[in-house]
Amino acid sequence: MSIPARLRRLVRRRAGARCEYCLLPEEFAFQKHEPDHVIASQHDGKTDASNLALACFLCNRHKGPNVGSFDPATGNLTPFFNPRKDVWSDHFDWDGPIIQPLTPEGRVTVKIFRFNDPDRVEERRTALP
Ligand SMILES: [Zn+2]
Repeated sequence: MSIPARLRRLVRRRAGARCEYCLLPEEFAFQKHEPDHVIASQHDGKTDASNLALACFLCNRHKGPNVGSFDPATGNLTPFFNPRKDVWSDHFDWDGPIIQPLTPEGRVTVKIFRFNDPDRVEERRTALP
């Protein structure tokens, strides 16, 4: 499941060195961002540019091999925000350093990735204008 250096470079460059989920710039993160399989290998996600996204360490760890969760508002099984198919601003909005979900996909992503844990909000507060 190792990702060739050429693909790693492409993913980092395409993302502008920002996490494609929480938008944290890599320069403000404690650990290097890493390429994430949007659909995990164990769910047959491919190791190619169409299924990779740059993710910060915490988004990647909280996401794990999951592809979705139950929408806290409806209980419906819902896929996560997919940075290869979805537009961030369709699913999320800023409330200062807090990321507010706008859709079911946004709600499950904010919840499972723990976008608004206090330490992450604090980290973001220093990073964002
Ligand atoms: Zn992130």
